[in-house]
Amino acid sequence: MAKTFACRDIGLECDFTAKADSEDELMQKVAEHAKTAHNMEHIDEETMAKIEAAVKDESD
Ligand SMILES: [Zn+2]
Repeated sequence: MAKTFACRDIGLECDFTAKADSEDELMQKVAEHAKTAHNMEHIDEETMAKIEAAVKDESD
């Protein structure tokens, strides 16, 4: 089942969404985006917890 994430779900004014087949792959995409678009060279624990809570299973 694919996993999805949207920046809006953690309160960012950003239209980025990511989709991947595994949570590991998804987190890599999110980390890359956070670095390039939000200048987050390192995602802190609080933000990581928010991201993990916002990850959804795609329903089909
Ligand atoms: Zn974003």
